[in-house]
Amino acid sequence: MQRYFLPPEQFHLSSQTVTIEGDDAHHLMRVMRAAIGDEVICSNGLDREVLVRISQLDKGLVTAEIVEELPMNAESAVQVWIAQSLPKGDKMETIIQKGTEIGAARFLPFLSERTIVQYDAKKEAKRTERWQKIAKEAAEQAHRNRVPQVEAVYSWKQLLQQAKEADAAWICYEKEDGQQLKPAIQEALAAGKLGQGSKVVIAVGPEGGFTEQEIKQAEEAGFRSVSLGARILRTETAAMVGLTCLFYETGEMGG
Ligand code: SAH
Repeated sequence: MQRYFLPPEQFHLSSQTVTIEGDDAHHLMRVMRAAIGDEVICSNGLDREVLVRISQLDKGLVTAEIVEELPMNAESAVQVWIAQSLPKGDKMETIIQKGTEIGAARFLPFLSERTIVQYDAKKEAKRTERWQKIAKEAAEQAHRNRVPQVEAVYSWKQLLQQAKEADAAWICYEKEDGQQLKPAIQEALAAGKLGQGSKVVIAVGPEGGFTEQEIKQAEEAGFRSVSLGARILRTETAAMVGLTCLFYETGEMGG
């Protein structure tokens, strides 16, 4: 069934209706060719998801009656933050789309020493907005209950600071020959760091990788450097592998 994330103010308690506006209304009317009586699911992206029946179709505005409240059970127990050094081209879009499908809770794009892309502060707001839209659409498609938050681009320092708020922080380093991801996950599990509401950050470097010094700084800030195996993954692959492995170990991938 078609799903839409709506801002909380489009849920009207007194009349037990929701209003669907803008792009979502356009999608529902023009793309889905919805008719009065059709049912869709609406979520406020926080704590409310309802089945609604369309009662009115106006230009750019759909009104629908709330039929029933739905349980919210598509979110993972652990909240995973993907910290991604800005990759080239439109790879960040792929990372946000796929990461949202798999179940990431938050995306933190950041700049590191070998980040290749030209960072343009002026275009930044627009780009973040586009990325947030990609997260919303992917969350709708994946039947998520929440839309992951896409943050504005962090500096390396800000990222290290932010990681201190997580229960576990891993930085993927292809030259790491000691610590592997699996034992790191199992250790965190045993220490009770991967329970309901726990926060985990997985940091991935750019095409050129992290410098040794960055790994040192990250470790000083509480990150653990981990290997994802003997093969070198592309930057857009690494985060997905890390996320999937973590969810596999915590029983989020159908287990
Ligand atoms: N330029 C480097 C590879 C960088 S891969 C080289 O050619 O040696 C891009 C990013 O993906 C890395 O910074 C790291 O965060 C992650 N990554 C890729 N393969 C990995 C692996 N086997 N283990 C851990 N991290 C990996």
